[in-house]
Amino acid sequence: MKLICVTWGVLSGIGKGITGASIGAILKSAGYKVFMQKFDGYLNIDPGTMNPLEHGEVFVTDDGAETDLDIGHYERYIDTSLNSNSSRTTGKIYQEIFERERKGEYLWQTVQVTSHVASVVKEKIKSWFFTAGADISLVEIGGTVGDMESEYLIESMRQLRHELGAGNILFVHLVYLPYLGASDELKTKPAQNSVRDLRARGIEPDILVVRSDKRVDEKLISKLSIMTGIEKRCIIPSETVKSIYQVPVKYYNYGIGEVITEKLELQTTGEISFDLSQRENLIQHIENATEVKKIAMVGKYTALEDAYYSLNEGLKVAGYRNHINVQISFLDAEKLEQGSADEILSHYDGIVIPWGFGNRGIEGMIRAAQYARKNKVPYLGICLGSQIMAIEFARNVLGYPDANSEEFAPEGQHNVIHLMEHQKGIHTKGGTMRLGSYDCKLDPESLIFRLYGKPQIAERHRHRYEFNNEFRKEFEKSWFHISGTSLDGELVEMVELRDHPFMVATQAHPELKSRPLAPHPLFVGLVRAMARI
Ligand code: GLN
Repeated sequence: MKLICVTWGVLSGIGKGITGASIGAILKSAGYKVFMQKFDGYLNIDPGTMNPLEHGEVFVTDDGAETDLDIGHYERYIDTSLNSNSSRTTGKIYQEIFERERKGEYLWQTVQVTSHVASVVKEKIKSWFFTAGADISLVEIGGTVGDMESEYLIESMRQLRHELGAGNILFVHLVYLPYLGASDELKTKPAQNSVRDLRARGIEPDILVVRSDKRVDEKLISKLSIMTGIEKRCIIPSETVKSIYQVPVKYYNYGIGEVITEKLELQTTGEISFDLSQRENLIQHIENATEVKKIAMVGKYTALEDAYYSLNEGLKVAGYRNHINVQISFLDAEKLEQGSADEILSHYDGIVIPWGFGNRGIEGMIRAAQYARKNKVPYLGICLGSQIMAIEFARNVLGYPDANSEEFAPEGQHNVIHLMEHQKGIHTKGGTMRLGSYDCKLDPESLIFRLYGKPQIAERHRHRYEFNNEFRKEFEKSWFHISGTSLDGELVEMVELRDHPFMVATQAHPELKSRPLAPHPLFVGLVRAMARI
């Protein structure tokens, strides 16, 4: 078993999982099968019930787990679909402990953190390594070393180091060097202290990744090496870069591949050659993407890009291959409710209505959809954005001024969007939506079929409401085209307008399957429509 454990020091949010993901990408480029997982210290069972404004988006896996945003980084960087094993919270671990205790699995024992809880963590890491059929597994510990919440996770990793022995597990510690403007220097003291904190917990970092907004030069590396006792070649600078996709290439160029190979004793399995050429091509594409196209993303969570992280990335990546620099502006849907929505929207080449919950800003989104339809502006609706497209069409084309969704008008007469049959009677919130990957068949006569280039696809879902089939015939009599449904034809999954260059929407979340090396066809379709190519 070969494991890499990634911990953070000094402060959180400095790597956002990109460090682990980049290491994963480097190892994958040498042909290794990589599995990645993240442990988080909080007590929610999963992040599905947390505020996306604070915690970022919820990333849904094929098997329907609501996971941390970092799992999205992992999937995108190692270009591999992960699963519910990739994300564990303290809440979920403790839930299992309590269930086991009630069943009597710990009869006559005092159930304790450092033995029982740590055992569950170690068990999970080991069993997931084998179920994933991995060559190497990366384990990221959320929070910073020293946080009370993740103390037991660090202890579990220490025990695992002891059990597996050197050569089978290595520790990567990510630290941050703050910059002091007055003296124009980067300070290493917090990083030194953080290494000490880790050692105080019995863990010796093998590799120190050093995040900084400024250049980390030889002198600083020497200083860090002397003060921490970590070899210079094992200190990898991670300076802020223009595009996060440069990170794996940078790490690789700093020699992290060789250090890992040596420390994890990978040479014994044969000749190793890393090939980051696809990543380098991507960086080249990003640099060559000079034609700017602007997207208005009309949603509710405008304050933080992290809330729509995958969507953002998916749209940008779709542009690069076509030399297009997609610039996304987050427009507060509520602001479009009054006044000059058309004027505001006229400055954009395309409109995206992303996913969302609750009725704040809905009318503004409907106005944006109306604007896109009437002015033939490329439009892509994602989940809620697909429901909005149907509501707008029902109101302004089919002649139901009160058309709505049951979510926003529970007593409405013309709810073209309503609660899914299997959702009725569900009142608990955590993990109860329609979640995970579902197959969808596409109408060969549709634009969406042409974009995907195949008759059957699968996309991930996370929603409670769906298109109301009572209105289906009426929609279909017009130029509203239902281009994709569930295999039994019951659930409307993909829609488009026939008389529009690109008014496309899906009940699914395509952004969760978009990869930097394989942009999603719907996003590519939108970008090409915006650029008229
Ligand atoms: N709120 C809507 C629903 O639950 C849309 C959800 C979403 O956009 N993911 O169906």
